[in-house]
Amino acid sequence: MTFDRPITTADELEAAALAPPERLAGLRAVTARYALAITPAMAALIDPADPDDPIARQFIPNAAELTVAAGERADPIGDHAHSPVAGIVHRYPDRVLLKAVHVCPVYCRFCFRREMVGPAGLGTLSPEEIDAALAYVAARPEIWEVILTGGDPLVLSPRRLGEIMARLADIEHVKIVRIHTRVPVVEPARVSHELVAALRIGRKTVYVALHANHPRELTAAARAACGRLVDAGIPMVSQSVLLRGVNDDPETLAALMRAFVEVRVKPYYLHHPDLAPGTGHFRVSLEEGRALVAGLRGRVSGLAQPTYVLDIPGGHGKAVIDGGAVEDRGNGCYSVSDFRGGSHAYPPGDQG
Ligand code: SF4
Repeated sequence: MTFDRPITTADELEAAALAPPERLAGLRAVTARYALAITPAMAALIDPADPDDPIARQFIPNAAELTVAAGERADPIGDHAHSPVAGIVHRYPDRVLLKAVHVCPVYCRFCFRREMVGPAGLGTLSPEEIDAALAYVAARPEIWEVILTGGDPLVLSPRRLGEIMARLADIEHVKIVRIHTRVPVVEPARVSHELVAALRIGRKTVYVALHANHPRELTAAARAACGRLVDAGIPMVSQSVLLRGVNDDPETLAALMRAFVEVRVKPYYLHHPDLAPGTGHFRVSLEEGRALVAGLRGRVSGLAQPTYVLDIPGGHGKAVIDGGAVEDRGNGCYSVSDFRGGSHAYPPGDQG
């Protein structure tokens, strides 16, 4: 089936016959709470006859999203605790997140920022807020890298993106600009020559980190979009979330990592799912995750090995799960060390 515009309402989902009738009532309740958007590229990939379709699972709302489990929280990785000015998250000394926009071309059902993105989310930074965020970066010589994220920064027009990139280029101590996006996969046509040109700022190295979770997402159009970026001299790395029912089996995970390498996207992070509200049905255990990642060794090339990471709830940064930072305390409980040497219980067992 082909689609000519994004699906953003439960009625459109029903009209497109992408949701089973018995799930529509629950689905409507979810869309009253959380944003819905599925691009034509992703809708076309969904097999409506497959109740376990891994693409549908990522984008079609599920009544289970209204069940909040113990430990889940609105801000699972603690952005707010490290936000000195609107749009900036300064968690590590040498790098900041710059969240210029809280809009995405798709809304992933497992999103760790699901309480911040979408039409009812934090919106787009005003010109004054952009000025303040860039002034914050300019005033701190220790900031070596700026990570444009959100939301998805590639929903901005090439003109607006180009303005932000040009202003970052003027900050001498910023050497790296990294862009976190799902656009090359979910809306590949948006990766136009104008958009690629906007990302190519002189004097800085620009990386694009692509978020994709299933090998079917790497369609011919997505592969071509990645090719346009890499051919323009923009190195790419991957980010995926380990998700129950999407990629929690060795064959799918191996195929996903190989697909990245084939399109010149170096596998970078495999995220353990965060404690976002209503996402328990996506969560695998740390032990399951460890076994899956161990299964990649030997099965696929060294080029195709991601780093399996946990974002420590509360904003304490990332812990490499197989890097000695996660200690098993038994009964599904762990002690996780952060990069400053602090120790944290996981799961945290409170509502934060
Ligand atoms: S694209 Fe990223 S920020 Fe947007 S809904 Fe998906 S996971 Fe969340």
